[in-house]
Amino acid sequence: MDTILKEAVLDKCRDLSIPVFGIASAEQWNQSYFEPWVPVLFRPRSIFPEVKSVIVIGFPVILPILETAPSIHYHELYKTLNRLLDADAYLISLFLISRGYSSISIPRDGYGSVEVLKNNPLTFFSHRHAAFLAGLGTFGINNTILTENYGPRVRFASVFTTAELPPDPPLSRPVCIKCMRCVKACPVQAIPGEEYPEGLINKNLCASRSESLSLRYISPCGICIKVCPVGKDRDLHSRKNLEIYNEDSIDFKEYHSAWKHVRSYGRK
Ligand code: SF4
Ligand code: SF4
Repeated sequence: MDTILKEAVLDKCRDLSIPVFGIASAEQWNQSYFEPWVPVLFRPRSIFPEVKSVIVIGFPVILPILETAPSIHYHELYKTLNRLLDADAYLISLFLISRGYSSISIPRDGYGSVEVLKNNPLTFFSHRHAAFLAGLGTFGINNTILTENYGPRVRFASVFTTAELPPDPPLSRPVCIKCMRCVKACPVQAIPGEEYPEGLINKNLCASRSESLSLRYISPCGICIKVCPVGKDRDLHSRKNLEIYNEDSIDFKEYHSAWKHVRSYGRK
């Protein structure tokens, strides 16, 4: 295990202003964590047989922008996050290649359109499982990875490398507090309310909603990550009181007016 190279990789992440990063060993996919939920073909060694380590990077979704969702504001932020993730994962793979280690970046999504996802609701690699193994968070009732700093408001990409980097241990305690707010808030009742992996969300219902928002240029949905009370970002943005999301409440009417304004433009 190369601890000096690991520090150099982490410094590279810091230089790129990546706030969330961790490392998993490719071997961990072959241990019992996800049997049988990550089929063999979806594991790093099936995709890049020489891989030894998986570096997972994440960028937070800024909560006050997410609160406008569905909106053109969140739609554009999502595109920005995707560009950052893909570019930075690629730069990290180039960094490792420059040190003599074959490496590849894995894009943050990996599907052509929501229509494709509706017909086949999987991508060739799951960053959520990688983030779990790299110690970045644990699965929530809404099937996303909940981190301590940003709750479920993080998007991930990964780098597969032949370098043997010391892995970070998975978190030992769940981050989700099982409040069921995501279950109640989902507009299409796609979240069954049981623990992952038994309580899988209905991906077809979720993708159908995303498709209808996409036709109006205001995808993705984002509601189940907006209402989640977990995350230190709630303190930073003064969003501890979740009554703010009750748009009938008069206590937060200046916020509701702001969201209504943003939601009214740049869309069909
Ligand atoms: S993204 Fe929207 S539709 Fe999909 S599970 Fe979350 S709240 Fe429901
Ligand atoms: S909203 Fe509550 S139940 Fe849903 S993921 Fe967050 S903490 Fe878990």
